[in-house]
Amino acid sequence: MFSYRHAFHAGNHADVLKHTTLLATLRHLMQKEAGITLVDTHAGAGLYRLDGDYAEKGGEAADGIVKLMAALRAAGQEPLPSTPALDDYLDLIASFNPDDQLRVYPGSPFVMQSLMRTESRDRLKLFELHPTDSRTLTANVAQLNAGRQVSVQLQDGFESLKPMLPPPPSTSGSKRALVLIDPSYEIKSDYAKVSACIQECLKRFPTGCYLVWYPIIPRAEAHDLPRRLKTLSNQAGRPWLHATLNIGQRDLSLNERPGLSASGMFVINPPHTLKAELQATLPRVLDALGRGRGKAQSVEAGGR
Ligand code: SAM
Repeated sequence: MFSYRHAFHAGNHADVLKHTTLLATLRHLMQKEAGITLVDTHAGAGLYRLDGDYAEKGGEAADGIVKLMAALRAAGQEPLPSTPALDDYLDLIASFNPDDQLRVYPGSPFVMQSLMRTESRDRLKLFELHPTDSRTLTANVAQLNAGRQVSVQLQDGFESLKPMLPPPPSTSGSKRALVLIDPSYEIKSDYAKVSACIQECLKRFPTGCYLVWYPIIPRAEAHDLPRRLKTLSNQAGRPWLHATLNIGQRDLSLNERPGLSASGMFVINPPHTLKAELQATLPRVLDALGRGRGKAQSVEAGGR
């Protein structure tokens, strides 16, 4: 079975990029009255303790949300400049930590759920294949008392997504969906699965909003993935946005393992506001999280 557990990585720089992008995208989509189907194909456990064993062992939030929050929000010091998208994200994280101590990090299911409209217009479908994380997610979701609005299934997210598209029409008749595809890429075949899945999604429901996270690592498949996604979007005549964040290398004099320093988000059919929001926001994130050689960010859009 899988060895990947998101609890080791929760709140790291990759989650900062992923969840800031997800929240800004959703915030825009929720301005429309019509209900929307939200899908998280690789949902994880939903909530993570930043003071638990896993997070402390991984220590990745220290170079992510913990550092970001300290740089932008710490009392008694001049904070770094923020942006509305970054404030929105930090407010969300703060809402899970009411006593100002950063102990809990909300994963993508809770980022999505935080913007759902309660009058049951919206639906959230969560897929998680790891039995332990699926159980934890089910228990975390149960606390929401969201009834049938939110479902958790111990199923393959790639396979389960296809029959869900196009989504059912909302009461106003429009079909709307946002899909987050966020595999662990623990298995090399995940890269090809993401491309094949997006190709199928664009056939079944070309107007859906699709967000794909991927790691930037020295591996041909990782390098090719955003190129493949651009080609697929262009072939389908759909607009896209590609954002990357590289926090740069850490000082390795301490004999530490280098770890992941960069990742990307590819968004198909992004809101027209997203490019400007990320262009303003990612430099601020880099000011707070940038470490050393290689630090960079980029936002590129095309297909319009
Ligand atoms: N999306 C989560 C977030 O942002 O909070 C993090 C998800 S983590 C990167 C990837 C998750 O996918 C892991 O929990 C892993 O167990 C799960 N997983 C791996 N293969 C899967 C599959 N085929 N279908 C559903 N879940 C899968």
